[in-house]
Amino acid sequence: MNFFKKNPLFVAFFVLILGPTIILSVFSFRNIVNENYLAEKTFNEHQQSFRKEVEAAINAEEHKIFSEVKNASLFLYEQPRSLMDFGKDAHYKNVSGVKAIFLFNGDTLIYPHLPRFFSLAKTSSFSTTRASLIEQEIFQKELENSKESEIARSFRLMQAPLESRNDQAANLLGLVRIAFKAKKYKEADKLLAVLEQSNYRQGYLQSNLTASIRQLHFEILVALGEHGAAEQFCKSNLKAFFAGEYFGDIATVKFFFESMLDQILSFENLSEESREEFWNFRENLSREIKTSEYYTDYLETIQKLLESKENDNDGLARQFIETELFFKMSYPWLSGNQEVVGILDQDIIEKRLVQKILEVAKDWNDVPYVLRNSKDSILAQNTGGEEQLLQQREISPALHLELSIYQRNQSELARETTNKVILMTLLIIFSLITVIAGLVFMFRSVHQERSLLAMKANFLSSISHELKTPLTSIKMFAEMMAKGRVRNVERIPEYANMICKETTRLENLIGAILNYTRMENGRSAFQWERLNLATAVEKVFENVEQIAINRGLTIDKHLDPDNFITGDYTAVYSMIQNLIENAIKYTNPPGEIHVRVYADGDKAIFEVQDTGVGIALSEQKNIFNDFYRVGDEMTRSTKGSGLGLAIVKRAADAHKATIALASKPGQGSTFSVKFRKAE
Ligand code: ADP
Repeated sequence: MNFFKKNPLFVAFFVLILGPTIILSVFSFRNIVNENYLAEKTFNEHQQSFRKEVEAAINAEEHKIFSEVKNASLFLYEQPRSLMDFGKDAHYKNVSGVKAIFLFNGDTLIYPHLPRFFSLAKTSSFSTTRASLIEQEIFQKELENSKESEIARSFRLMQAPLESRNDQAANLLGLVRIAFKAKKYKEADKLLAVLEQSNYRQGYLQSNLTASIRQLHFEILVALGEHGAAEQFCKSNLKAFFAGEYFGDIATVKFFFESMLDQILSFENLSEESREEFWNFRENLSREIKTSEYYTDYLETIQKLLESKENDNDGLARQFIETELFFKMSYPWLSGNQEVVGILDQDIIEKRLVQKILEVAKDWNDVPYVLRNSKDSILAQNTGGEEQLLQQREISPALHLELSIYQRNQSELARETTNKVILMTLLIIFSLITVIAGLVFMFRSVHQERSLLAMKANFLSSISHELKTPLTSIKMFAEMMAKGRVRNVERIPEYANMICKETTRLENLIGAILNYTRMENGRSAFQWERLNLATAVEKVFENVEQIAINRGLTIDKHLDPDNFITGDYTAVYSMIQNLIENAIKYTNPPGEIHVRVYADGDKAIFEVQDTGVGIALSEQKNIFNDFYRVGDEMTRSTKGSGLGLAIVKRAADAHKATIALASKPGQGSTFSVKFRKAE
């Protein structure tokens, strides 16, 4: 109790820091024990969150795709409708993941608008009569580049009345082809003119025959280098197509116009303006034709989708029909009667969604999962799926993606838990050690501070006593002599001697105090020079030898010359002086004192050995402290300040010298100071 009362700081420290640290540590240890259970719980939470985040990411991405479709649908109104517009740059937004979109207003198809040309023409239904056997034979010969084919064709033409109109046209066309191949372009052109002037074209010829004639016409113009005429020819055909003339099925139209436009765009002498115009023709037409292809291919499906009411709630319906994934978008996504039907590109959408899932998975790499598509192929995974299956969900209503989440690998979990436990334990132990070490350190310094204060107070009282004693004697003898109270005049020299002795004592004491303060200031106050250790010891020896002899002690010296050190003379001198004086002070007669200087390798050693009272082991670490005096009878009866060894220690430190002490109470002490030898 007394201890706590005396140390309120300790109590405060205990209550505010150590106590809470210990309590927290105990709780942490208890938690560590539950770490395995916690890890499992955490994993459970993780896998739930992972699934939720994946679902949210998929929903968000799908929503984004449909928002893009919605935006793109606005541009569909601006798509070209007439030949004039096809030459202009058109606004169009491609949606990554969507193959085709068709825009309706009510029942009216707004985009693409080409299909009506195909369907219109279809109603006029051409008979696709098969080419006659003779025609097939001749065509084969033509392909073989045989001269016979030309003769045969000319011969057959002469029998014109006997041939069907179709066969006649085919013959004539064959001759055009032969002339064209033989690079007789003029001749081919003339023959073609005959073919075109006759009324084979409208209503009589098979569509592919018509297309072939046009195709050849264009080729001949190009071959003749009549680029301007070729451009005009292309435009007039486009015009005719837009005016509703039948050019064949979509594939034929596509091939016919695209090959023509590609060739025109490769003309080197095409003007910038025309190039842009034909480029736009090509772009707009291709896009329209591509969408129209899808439209005509899936006409029935699209109609069915338009009629279905499935998406009345959220304005979106998704449906796998045959192999394609269709969607229908209407109010509230779109306004009024607008409806968009489209075909999604599964591969690209899958890629877009997987990308999002991978982004989510990055944050949850402790959750083993496998993602499969509707064809059961794996799109993403971070496990072999050997562990127990925890949950399996369809996460994309459109693509039927399936997310499977598995149990964590148990050994991995155990390893992670162990690592965590070790880390946390180390952390707790370390923090406890830090707090306790801090506490010990703090109390040690408080304790040292206190004892230093006590020693200083002790020093002041003893120093004043020390100063006062010689002063009193000096004053007494001086007054006696001054006032002529000395009865026996012969004793005057004795008194003067006394005054002298006491003055020397005073001088020594003040010298020690001054030395101490000088040491306190440290190395900066020193003057470094090369010193002969033996010479310095000799000097001290001269001054103290007599004192030892007077005390009835035997004092001897053994000084190896030429032991040089780098040092401050005053500091080294007072160090030697203090050590020899202590040996004299603390050795009772008849005792012995040995002073030595010798070399040991690169060290120069100064040693004082006495047969005095010795120093107890427990005191040996204290005697070098400032103002410290051993508190036994002997020391008390010996005058001193407790500064001597403090001075020795400081001087040694400043010289990077070490002090060794070997002592046993009653048997004597040996102080050795090891200096580094100077070069
Ligand atoms: P002091 O002025 O008391 O001599 P010092 O710092 O020189 O102060 O010494 C500290 C204490 O160490 C002394 O009080 C004494 O008890 C002890 N001491 C020092 N030198 C010796 C020695 N040679 N033999 C025995 N004790 C010694």
